[in-house]
Amino acid sequence: MNKLKYLNHYNEETKRQVLKLIESGSLSKYLLKKYPKPHTINSDKELFNYTIEIKNNYLKKSPPLSKSLYDGKINVIHNALGTHHFISRVQGSKLKAKNEIRIASMFKSVPEEFLEMIVVHELAHFKEKEHNKAFYKLCTYMQSSYHQVEFDLRLYLTHIDINGKLQEWN
Ligand SMILES: [Zn+2]
Repeated sequence: MNKLKYLNHYNEETKRQVLKLIESGSLSKYLLKKYPKPHTINSDKELFNYTIEIKNNYLKKSPPLSKSLYDGKINVIHNALGTHHFISRVQGSKLKAKNEIRIASMFKSVPEEFLEMIVVHELAHFKEKEHNKAFYKLCTYMQSSYHQVEFDLRLYLTHIDINGKLQEWN
């Protein structure tokens, strides 16, 4: 089993440190210390309002959002994560014609920063289709800690693979 399949494109030193965290059994401690609590945005309506608020703050001029919802059919864990399709194929997908944002239901039970990161990623696709420099610039404009949060989310996906979900976030 490749323990670090979600972290393949990070540098060797980072991967070495992550392996250390895993082997010493402190991955959950790391995550819980940094993100003690899950968010409380549980319904589709709350998710829609949450998304609209971020959009209005940062992307007023982009096309309107018609829907934003949790989708139980999007399975994060069993899809292979390609480096370049981290979210659009896996965590959520934006149906372009209608400007819908779909977020995998597992994101109901994560810290707000993770949900924010996914929403920000999907919103950024309103303007940039590709995962290019402009795309990530937009992401960090909306969430300054975007890259760190993406890394921590990948750590959590790794944790789920090895130990399952964190009870503290459920
Ligand atoms: Zn994407």
